[in-house]
Amino acid sequence: MKKPINVCSRCGKPRIAVKSWVELIKTYSGEYSITHTINVCPDPECQQKVDTEIAMHKKRVETLMQERQAREEERKKTKKSA
Ligand SMILES: [Zn+2]
Repeated sequence: MKKPINVCSRCGKPRIAVKSWVELIKTYSGEYSITHTINVCPDPECQQKVDTEIAMHKKRVETLMQERQAREEERKKTKKSA
C-alpha cells in the first residue's frame, strides 16, 4: 500500500514540508544526491505530541538495544568461563 501523500499519524492531516535539503554522497562509483525533507503536522500541538512519541520510542529502542548488548556480553563471559 502506497500513500499518495504524507499524512500525520495522529490526526491524519496532510503534512507540510518545513525543511528540505540535498545531501551529496560520495562513493567509489561516483557521487549521488539524496533529498531529505522534514514534514510536520500543520497543527503544532499535534506535532509536539508526535515528536514526544517518537522521542519516547527512540529511547525505548535504545534501552532495549543496550539491554540486549549487555545480555550478549554476559553470555559471552559465561561461555568463556564454562
Ligand atoms: Zn497531526
